[in-house]
Amino acid sequence: MYKASCLCGQVTIEINGPISDIIYCHCSRCRKSTGSAYATNGYVLKSSFSIVLGEDNLHYYQVTEQTRRYFCADCASPIYSENNTDPLRVRLRLGILDSEIIERPSSHNFVTSRASWDQFNDRLPHYKGKEPNRSKGPTD
Ligand SMILES: [Zn+2]
Ligand SMILES: [Zn+2]
Repeated sequence: MYKASCLCGQVTIEINGPISDIIYCHCSRCRKSTGSAYATNGYVLKSSFSIVLGEDNLHYYQVTEQTRRYFCADCASPIYSENNTDPLRVRLRLGILDSEIIERPSSHNFVTSRASWDQFNDRLPHYKGKEPNRSKGPTD
């Protein structure tokens, strides 16, 4: 089981399953919502995702017609997003994890939107959009 929490600690999460399709996302939405060069995101099945404490603290920003980004209303930590075209999974913001995880990121995505000061020198592949091998989720 993996544990995660927001900066102020009022929202705590447990994950009882694998985290899939972990990527570094350099898109402008992820840059702005994290205030950083990129977000690190991965999928978790809703059936293995529980909000242990602080559900009332989770507010969302409706970023597109399909997508809501949930964050802690007190400390503003980004927690996860939901997309109504993918109703069985959430997209977790991995920076909130308190546990060591065995999964690892597989690529840098939306690199054409990256900040000019953003330098990444690892050996992961770079994609102009989503990684081509991203899983489509159990409902597709
Ligand atoms: Zn918080
Ligand atoms: Zn993004």
